[in-house]
Amino acid sequence: MKSSQQLFDRAKKVMPGGVNSPVRAFKSVGLTPRFIEKACGNKIYDIEGKEYLDYVGSWGPMILGHADPKVIAAVQQRVSKGLSFGACTELEVELAELICDNIPHVEMIRMVNSGTEAVMSALRLARGYTKKSKIIKFEGCYHGHSDAMLVKAGSGAMTFGDPDSAGVTCGAAADTLLARYNDLASVELLMEKNRDDIACVIVEPTAANMGVVPAEPGFLQGLRNLCDRFGALLIFDEVITGFRLAFGGAAAYFGVTPDLVTYGKIIGGGMPVGAYGGRREIMECVSPLGSVYQAGTLSGNPIAMTAGIETLQQLLVNPSIYDRINEMGQYLADGLRSASGFTVNHIGSLVCMFYTKEPVTDYDSACKSDTQGFGHVFKELLEAGIYVAPSQYEAMFINSCFTKEELDFTIESYKKALKK
Ligand SMILES: *Cc1c(COP(=O)(O)O)cnc(C)c1O
Repeated sequence: MKSSQQLFDRAKKVMPGGVNSPVRAFKSVGLTPRFIEKACGNKIYDIEGKEYLDYVGSWGPMILGHADPKVIAAVQQRVSKGLSFGACTELEVELAELICDNIPHVEMIRMVNSGTEAVMSALRLARGYTKKSKIIKFEGCYHGHSDAMLVKAGSGAMTFGDPDSAGVTCGAAADTLLARYNDLASVELLMEKNRDDIACVIVEPTAANMGVVPAEPGFLQGLRNLCDRFGALLIFDEVITGFRLAFGGAAAYFGVTPDLVTYGKIIGGGMPVGAYGGRREIMECVSPLGSVYQAGTLSGNPIAMTAGIETLQQLLVNPSIYDRINEMGQYLADGLRSASGFTVNHIGSLVCMFYTKEPVTDYDSACKSDTQGFGHVFKELLEAGIYVAPSQYEAMFINSCFTKEELDFTIESYKKALKK
């Protein structure tokens, strides 16, 4: 039988760190990553046949659980008609309509292939539309790995202890200004100082890449007001929160309207998809209608669109899915809080335990978490058959397949791990 260790040894010879995305390497927890063979519902199975309760859900997309029968059937059917045409298909129109008809602030949308690409394109659009150059982002928010966004960029970078990346030139980051999450005064100060230069404010409307840090009451509306006052666009990066906190994402959940949104993860139902959309007048600046160039050989790929359509349709016709996963999120958060005495942040189906008793509301407070404590608990959980993200600064993602009994088992396992 093949083992994860054997595969990892092979992988390390031919891929940097043995992986195609850093956090997967289990480096911060000092273990060998599990190589996954298959998944079903809320369980994943490694190459050695071990079963785990999965709280990662491919980092968010699998809101319906893995290998959802309807999604799989639709994709299988579609695959036989060809994988990619690089030409228009009805599926692209269908997915775009599904979103634009149900999310009022998205009047037009453009499909891309990842969240990173969505953000990069939305920023270019914001600059093209406003004809301004500077961008405000928040410490600890992750917006993918494009150069301008790799400044105090949350999870991956936090996990490896260097908030900024080598290879990003001063020039590429010079127009990125940093504000503090949940701190409107820090944004106002930057806007005052850079009057007439701010193209946009980009924010995770609930941060989920420095652990889970919900927007405090008034924060998002405050950003909306500041952007209006200073003529900047407000971009919600809903790559995690979109279709998760509600179908209309955090914008619907909090009742605050952004000018542009970026999507990823759930929108592709497990396939590589991203998208950016928003107000018609702004989106009309995108090529070939307007002068902001953006393109993609595989964008709107028919297989990816199919997985996205099937996933979003189920969420639309069956909104009780949200009641269910939100209730489970609350249950898990309450249970973990009383089992540990630690700070447990929670919103909807996103849960995160910080190894500190202090409230966590921004990057600095998130950094106070005891990551060694996390590493110890991670190892115990993995042995008990519970797969959480191998980093303190990620969310636990609940999908619609979890039962209360499994959450109880998880809470008990945390309790045992914390005692050891
Ligand atoms: C995951 C993520 C991204 C990047 O998406 P990729 O598909 O990994 O490129 C961007 N923004 C947020 C908020 C994310 O969570």
